[in-house]
Amino acid sequence: MKFTTKVVHSQLKGTEEIRSKTTPIYQTSAFSFKSLEELEGFYEGKSPYLYTRTGNPNTDELGGMVAALEGAPAGVATSSGLSAILAAVLAVVQSGDHIIAAEDLYGGTFHMLKEELKGFGIETTFVDFTSREEIEQAITPRTKLLYSETVTNPFMRVEDIQQLVELAEKHNLKTIIDNTFATPYLRQPYLEGVDLVAHSATKYIGGHSDITAGVVTGKEELVKKAREKVVNMGSNLSPFEAWLTARGAKTLGLRMEAQARNSGILADNLRSNQHIKHVYYPDNLSEKGHGAIVTIELDASCNISAFFKSLGWIKIVPTLAGVETTVSYPLGTSHRALPKEAQQKLGINTHVVRISLGIEDAEDIVAQFNEAIEKSVG
Ligand SMILES: *Cc1c(COP(=O)(O)O)cnc(C)c1O
Repeated sequence: MKFTTKVVHSQLKGTEEIRSKTTPIYQTSAFSFKSLEELEGFYEGKSPYLYTRTGNPNTDELGGMVAALEGAPAGVATSSGLSAILAAVLAVVQSGDHIIAAEDLYGGTFHMLKEELKGFGIETTFVDFTSREEIEQAITPRTKLLYSETVTNPFMRVEDIQQLVELAEKHNLKTIIDNTFATPYLRQPYLEGVDLVAHSATKYIGGHSDITAGVVTGKEELVKKAREKVVNMGSNLSPFEAWLTARGAKTLGLRMEAQARNSGILADNLRSNQHIKHVYYPDNLSEKGHGAIVTIELDASCNISAFFKSLGWIKIVPTLAGVETTVSYPLGTSHRALPKEAQQKLGINTHVVRISLGIEDAEDIVAQFNEAIEKSVG
């Protein structure tokens, strides 16, 4: 062999004999075959991998991991939370169908349903999901799907999943729940009867703010359809990002336990602070804790700009779920695009701050917030 032939053909041989403790990263766009018979074997279901967009061990590991945590038979990993939601929704509806969704959904999902899917002939009606009557009144002969989130944002409304599942069964509809904020550590919507569960793994499942990824889990038939959407529409996750996400997910339970504990401590502390008008933190999410997000409304005596400037080591970041405590400003970021009336109806005003609790020591977190509140007053 000459120089260049030699170099491109001198890769590691016999990789199956190397017993790596962790899953190797299959950073490859495709898989090789020894013969036409073996290639044919792929189509007969004898070997699982052909081309990374259609399947890869690292993305399958992540999909399987989250499915196991949710108690679901199947899961598929995708390039982002939004692509997971899209694949889940398209596994259930098509052009001409109608969706009923909660009015307080994550902004990106709201936009996707309201604008993008509408352009493909899929209509969504957004209603107040605390009202069973409103949901039932919105049902039409074309309705196929009820869509909501286990916990909505930024005011941490806990969805009544049991009621949703009952309504869906009564009217022969499917249900999809975005379980990003609760995580399967705190809630397992599939085991509560939901058909498909979607995740932004970018948040707690990955947990380290270094990837963008999503997962759909749920009923086998529907996950199969969701996987077809991912493959055919090209929203697969890259092997390396799947590997990082699966690595992060190993500590999901430990992180959520610490983060939920810190949230409870901070929420209790802020409830007794005279400058805090409201503390939004649920008390009915799970026996293991109530999530790791605390949203507060400062009172009029606080200067919001001074508050954000006085947070010391706590960074302003328009996302959530990392191991570091961060704050975000819903009015200026996540809920910026909402019409004024919708912001007002939901209660998103100039003094609302969303806090994503990390794993730091609770005393430090509480002290830093108390200092920022003090400095923001007068
Ligand atoms: C972030 C988020 C999404 C979107 O996920 P991406 O990974 O950013 O695409 C969807 N739902 C919820 C509840 C989220 O917090």
